[in-house]
Amino acid sequence: MTMAVCFNCGVIKFGAFVPCPECQGVPRTEDELVLALAMTDHYFDQPTLEQMGAAVRDGHPPHLAPPTRAMLLEALHSNSGLLKTLIGLSQAQDTEASSSESRVPTKKPWWKFW
Ligand SMILES: [Zn+2]
Repeated sequence: MTMAVCFNCGVIKFGAFVPCPECQGVPRTEDELVLALAMTDHYFDQPTLEQMGAAVRDGHPPHLAPPTRAMLLEALHSNSGLLKTLIGLSQAQDTEASSSESRVPTKKPWWKFW
């Protein structure tokens, strides 16, 4: 289960892209989607996520560095399944998407076979 920070209220929740249990917030815009994707344990450890959550609660959500934002946007656009999951689908589909995601083999250069 993905640990995630709500982009809207800063609460730590499980499942990055499910509606927030506290504020019902669901990321819709590109900026919100990128922020929601960034503030998960895929990218940051738990203490960092908790700091980000505190910043969001204070009204100062973290600003992503432009290269980080570009990288995350790229990840969103190159993975339409992820994007669909992000744009608020059911939890059942979310579970399905994350399990199929983990089956996707890591892309490696062909010569790195070890
Ligand atoms: Zn929330």
